[in-house]
Amino acid sequence: MGLSLDGPQRLHDQCRLTRLGQGTHSRVMQGLALLKTYRIPHDILCVVHHHNVDHPLEVYRFFKNIGAAYMGFLPVVNASDKVDPEKFGAFLCAVFDEWKAHDIGRTRIQIIEEALATATGRDHSLCVFRKECGEIPVVEANGDVYPCDHFVRPAFKLGNLSALSLETLIRDSLQRFGRQKHTGLPHPCKTCEALAFCNGGCPKDRLRPGPGSERTLNHLCPAYKKFFTHCLPFAEQVQSLWQGRSKDQKTSPPGRNAPCPCGSGKKFKHCCLK
Ligand code: SF4
Ligand code: SF4
Repeated sequence: MGLSLDGPQRLHDQCRLTRLGQGTHSRVMQGLALLKTYRIPHDILCVVHHHNVDHPLEVYRFFKNIGAAYMGFLPVVNASDKVDPEKFGAFLCAVFDEWKAHDIGRTRIQIIEEALATATGRDHSLCVFRKECGEIPVVEANGDVYPCDHFVRPAFKLGNLSALSLETLIRDSLQRFGRQKHTGLPHPCKTCEALAFCNGGCPKDRLRPGPGSERTLNHLCPAYKKFFTHCLPFAEQVQSLWQGRSKDQKTSPPGRNAPCPCGSGKKFKHCCLK
């Protein structure tokens, strides 16, 4: 279960308000206590916005102090508000450094796992970093089908179930939409050293003009470039451990009960395989 929490109260209550304008932090913390009481697995979903982006360690340490085992940092990018991508990149790097120094094998952070997935030859879990879109179509009550909930607009309608089967829509229109993420990459992405990690990000966020290109670059490009470049040496270290192990054992990947190649000291199944 995902729990939306943007950090300690003073940061969370800047944006997460009731209709009456009251902060929701204490209610979220009550919800968290219930989840813990009934041992319901949960992840922290932290939206990163202009109120908390300058406080990465305060946010991350707060999550650690409340016992969060898994967390995702979701940048705000919408028509009315966009996180500063340079600051978001610095945020992710600061969290990564803290995690690497103290928390490998203790806490799991979604975007770090995405980087390690690339290093160990696995596909991304997050669609934004996958090479192609198209696995999460939306079906409206009237039967209209769209490729993704970020593209529920007339221009992106794939068809209607009264006229075409879902199978046909997925095979033809949805896969075409999905491939466009890759075939429509802006030029800077094609030569970017972070391409395998980032794949240009979510097409809905391709909002900034690319240099010398008609296609637009992802608003979050500076953040992704900064973060993935920053953790590249670590990812390469994990990759080389992974490859060495595979060579030694003549198997790939390591067994579920083998030590995790990221060096956490935990079993692979309890660490990066999750
Ligand atoms: S458009 Fe964005 S959110 Fe939708 S599937 Fe593609 S990457 Fe994911
Ligand atoms: S970091 Fe920027 S240039 Fe590189 S692949 Fe991602 S969006 Fe494209």
